[in-house]
Amino acid sequence: MSFLTGPMRKHVNGHKQLTDHSEIKFVDPGELVYLPLINMGSTAYEVLVKEGDSVKVGTKVAFRKDHFTVPLFSSVSGTVKGVQKIMHSSLKPVDHLVIINDGKYEKEAPLKPIDYKSASKEELVEFMMNMGLVGCGGAGFPTYIKYRGVQGIKKLIINAVECEPYITADYAGMKENLEDLVAGVDALLKTCEAEKAMVCIKETKQDFIPVLKDAFKEFKNIEVVPVPDVYPMGWERTLVYEVTKQRYEKLPSEIGCIVNNAATAISFARCMRTGMPIVEKLVTVSGDGVVEPCNVKVPTGTPAGVIIQACGGYAAEDILLIAGGPMMGKTITSDKFVIGTYNNSLTVLQHKPVKAIACLRCGKCSDHCPAGLQPVRINMAEKAKDTDALKKLGVMDCVECGMCTYICPSKIDVTEGVRRAKRIVALKK
Ligand code: SF4
Ligand code: SF4
Repeated sequence: MSFLTGPMRKHVNGHKQLTDHSEIKFVDPGELVYLPLINMGSTAYEVLVKEGDSVKVGTKVAFRKDHFTVPLFSSVSGTVKGVQKIMHSSLKPVDHLVIINDGKYEKEAPLKPIDYKSASKEELVEFMMNMGLVGCGGAGFPTYIKYRGVQGIKKLIINAVECEPYITADYAGMKENLEDLVAGVDALLKTCEAEKAMVCIKETKQDFIPVLKDAFKEFKNIEVVPVPDVYPMGWERTLVYEVTKQRYEKLPSEIGCIVNNAATAISFARCMRTGMPIVEKLVTVSGDGVVEPCNVKVPTGTPAGVIIQACGGYAAEDILLIAGGPMMGKTITSDKFVIGTYNNSLTVLQHKPVKAIACLRCGKCSDHCPAGLQPVRINMAEKAKDTDALKKLGVMDCVECGMCTYICPSKIDVTEGVRRAKRIVALKK
């Protein structure tokens, strides 16, 4: 395995000042919301409502029905319009359940609130499943899978690092929901029966670290751990290695760890307290391509274009719209895609075409790859369509962190070449 042999020493300009002290504003989605019927690439959904049905905020409208259970809840009150295929942030056309928003936001809590202190571990895992708690990694991995039947966990690692440039949604969410963060971490700790929890945050957040430490001061088994401000410190493998000095093959549970995002802990606590699932998201809208960068709260299913207009619109004609941050996000050619429970940012950059020059063989991309790969050699093997060489080079270990493109002095989009190489190997399987 080549995982995590890279040196991890690159500080990346975060541009966080654009939004990290902005007020969070609510964005109304307008007449229609589109709820994506997809989870981790699976579109095996059963829809529980039909055209003309009335729904409220919190009505369970569909669920994933294959080997994972992931319910989907309406984020607005109104009337079901039907199912429509539109582009999803994963760059695939996907069925979405369309709801006509009546603008009243009448609510119905689909779950009974639960006191995690008196609930059993099994009840907490079941609650996670029924509330549709998913990770914030873009694909939406169901959180209950990590906790169901898990044993021998020593450390719960709460990822509050937010290492991608521009994104400050987690930071804003923690500041706004400190009590839920504390309760959520304590509840996750109880659910996995770990000996301790580590809340990991960049050491440069000097204004917030004392606030976090104070919030957790009553908890002897929860520690706030400042970590270096290098990219990609928020990547699960990097973070686990940073705080345990141990590596693993596939899952952190192999070395007795579970990792969850701070936003996941907050959502878990809020839902246990109110019975309301995740029907709105905190999203960072930032970059030099949007007029008023800020953090917004939006009902799930709100189109990206509506959100950008609420932030003053585009600041230039030629822009790059990215679902996610500039390093790991996906560039999307239309702003019709919507925010799902797993999205936390839209990055809008003015498109400044750069002319790539020939590779200088400087080796910087290999020196900085956190997965210990040789991106330049992968790009050469990709051009030659040499699948065997690509496999030997461990191309599937790439986590698409974007560092090789960022670091390349020749301005070559090395990451894109590695992505193409992964597709070649995946198709040959
Ligand atoms: S995107 Fe580039 S730097 Fe990042 S893991 Fe993949 S090959 Fe390595
Ligand atoms: S960083 Fe760019 S120029 Fe240097 S070896 Fe990699 S691809 Fe070539």
